[in-house]
Amino acid sequence: MQKLVEKAHVLIEALPFIRNFSGKTVVIKYGGAAQVEDTLKNSFAQDVVLLNFIGMRPVVVHGGGPKISQTMKKMGKEPTFVQGQRVTDRETMDIVEMVLGGLINKEIVALINSHGGRAVGLSGKDGNLIKAKKKLIRNRAAKGEEEIIDIGLVGEVESVSPAILHSLERDGFIPVISPIGVGAKGETYNVNADYVASAIASSLRAEKLMLLTDVEGIKDSEGKILSTLTRTDIMGLINDKVIAGGMLPKVQACTRALEGGVKKTHIVDGRLPHCLLLEIFTKEGIGTEIVD
Ligand code: ADP
Ligand code: MG
Repeated sequence: MQKLVEKAHVLIEALPFIRNFSGKTVVIKYGGAAQVEDTLKNSFAQDVVLLNFIGMRPVVVHGGGPKISQTMKKMGKEPTFVQGQRVTDRETMDIVEMVLGGLINKEIVALINSHGGRAVGLSGKDGNLIKAKKKLIRNRAAKGEEEIIDIGLVGEVESVSPAILHSLERDGFIPVISPIGVGAKGETYNVNADYVASAIASSLRAEKLMLLTDVEGIKDSEGKILSTLTRTDIMGLINDKVIAGGMLPKVQACTRALEGGVKKTHIVDGRLPHCLLLEIFTKEGIGTEIVD
């Protein structure tokens, strides 16, 4: 009996959060270990379905790095990266679109639906959701001169047309978005999923943007996890080179989302089962929150 009462306590603890977040949108960038390991995949899908049933509006944006590289190799192409971004020629773009918009997107949709949700998969082409333009990579060459490197069909978000998301939301569907953008002439662009999640969150004026990753959160110079950071703190940490590598697009995604009207942004450890619930429904939260 005591055990049952404890279960009731856990639910009641979540009550204020459920009340506050009812009807609010949360945009989740799904990637890393949570997208690979079976137990984590299922706990992620359960969390999304639960959020939806208690009245929140989850929107999922996914990545797909490792699977794209695997498929490229199977097709006899060697993946190459410049500043962490995949060099994307036309053939590579076809593979990216097949893998991201096909295999991975539908796998996530099916997983959420198998737990009782109603997910619908979209790429940035559907309903003109993500307009993109070619991204130019700058590199500081010798003598401090800047050179511009062409990495092909890598794009950056130009604008988001969220109408299709509003339509789905009205009927209780959970959108699952692959980070593919469409250019002015209908070209296809490969866009970083952190930036796409950020732009989608801004366009929906989301309550939260949550980026799942494979570390506990943002660490300081001594490796200690920082649980709350402001935009000013972030600038300091970037200047001091404490934040680097794959964490840079994430913090940039967070600060842009805050500028775009998103209330709170979080970098959370996707290796923790039920990380979404732990962040949303506990006072302490997990990982690092970045606020204005
Ligand atoms: P994802 O697959 O989630 O996009 P990335 O590898 O692109 O993951 O980005 C996360 C990585 O960023 C971490 O594994 C870590 O190596 C790196 N990183 C750089 N600076 C920091 C920092 N200050 N705190 C935590 N991680 C950092
Ligand atoms: Mg990354």
